[in-house]
Amino acid sequence: MNTFLSTQQKALQDKYQTFANEEIAPFTKELETCSFDLKKLFEKIGQLGYLKYTTLLDVTLFVETISQYDSGLALTVSQHIALIEVIKKYGTENQKAAYLPLLEEAKVIGTLAFSEKNAGVDYQAVETSAETTGDNYVLNGEKTWVVNGALSNLFLVLAKSGQGLSLLLVDKREGNSSTLNIGPNIAKLGLSSAYTNDIVFSNVKTSSQNKIANKEPVQNIALYALDVAKVILAAGSIGMLANALNIALEHARQRKQFGQNIGQFQGIQWKIADFGTELEGAKLQVYRAAWSHDHDSGSFFTYSAMAKLSATKAARIYTGESIQILGAKGISLDTPLERFYRDAKVMEICLGTSEFQKILLTEALAIAK
Ligand SMILES: Cc1cc2nc3c(=O)[nH]c(=O)nc-3n(C[C@H](O)[C@H](O)[C@H](O)COP(=O)(O)OP(=O)(O)OC[C@H]3O[C@@H](n4cnc5c(N)ncnc54)[C@H](O)[C@@H]3O)c2cc1C
Repeated sequence: MNTFLSTQQKALQDKYQTFANEEIAPFTKELETCSFDLKKLFEKIGQLGYLKYTTLLDVTLFVETISQYDSGLALTVSQHIALIEVIKKYGTENQKAAYLPLLEEAKVIGTLAFSEKNAGVDYQAVETSAETTGDNYVLNGEKTWVVNGALSNLFLVLAKSGQGLSLLLVDKREGNSSTLNIGPNIAKLGLSSAYTNDIVFSNVKTSSQNKIANKEPVQNIALYALDVAKVILAAGSIGMLANALNIALEHARQRKQFGQNIGQFQGIQWKIADFGTELEGAKLQVYRAAWSHDHDSGSFFTYSAMAKLSATKAARIYTGESIQILGAKGISLDTPLERFYRDAKVMEICLGTSEFQKILLTEALAIAK
């Protein structure tokens, strides 16, 4: 399947696999219960240079590989990568110099703070205000569901300012720790290893130098950030699915009923044939989206929405089918399948729901014109 990846990318995959086997696989229980030191893990990933990738496809392969064991990490990493990419593409030279090396070495952890109680899919409805006073913006408002909220030092905040929407970098290290109130981890159905927090901004100051100012409309930059994050999350779906497929296959080859392996029954064979086909299709969509980012094909907006829509849908359906193939064992805690099933549902909601992807595709494909 991966024959079109370069020799370097295949070598990277081998390194990523060793890392995943040693650093993620033994700790899935700790990750799920949030008793794992994610900051340390980030630092290790940074030290290994995996966040200083050459192409989005390279880091997509990394996330696909670690997500075989824990796909919440895909959500965690997605926000950090999205922030790196926004600064690379739209940041000023000063912002690039100040933040890229720190983010690439994971000395600073970053995230996107867009959503609010009344601004979900309709992200432009944000009410957090950013008022100018001298050389600063002063932010007031409440963000919700911020991944890495408790871990991050750098937030890309979508706020309302005099000129309309603004995207501002808020650096917690710049004297903001008392005015940024980070709530406890929000317990959720799946992707539990990713911390999610509410954040209250009370007169948080950020320099006007920290504004992402570009000729591009702010809405487009916000969507670009989400597009990058979506591809990384979708890589998490396919990594998790690959593991689910292996578990289902192994069980089908070993479990005997009616005197033969259940893999001998056409009902099971067809489930697995569909599973493999949909997984490979989703994988192609994810790789194509990352490739289109790296080659600036102008189709990234379209392909990232398609990749997120198809990979998370496949994850929901086929984590369910893998449980079906294992029967009662599938819903027990003996395998990671029940966790994957819960993770898959959350994937269809975070970083823009499936319906939101269809709204974007309606625009991209000019369906309504
Ligand atoms: C695990 C997790 C992590 C997250 N991480 C972050 C983060 O790091 N940063 C951040 O800013 N946000 C984050 N979010 C927020 C996330 O982006 C929003 O939850 C998501 O955009 C949906 O918003 P909502 O939950 O308010 O749903 P709503 O916007 O209230 O939507 C409710 C339902 O209505 C549907 N709907 C809405 N409008 C339409 C329409 N026009 N047509 C058809 N259907 C529609 C939606 O698809 C959905 O099914 C996260 C969410 C989760 C669950």
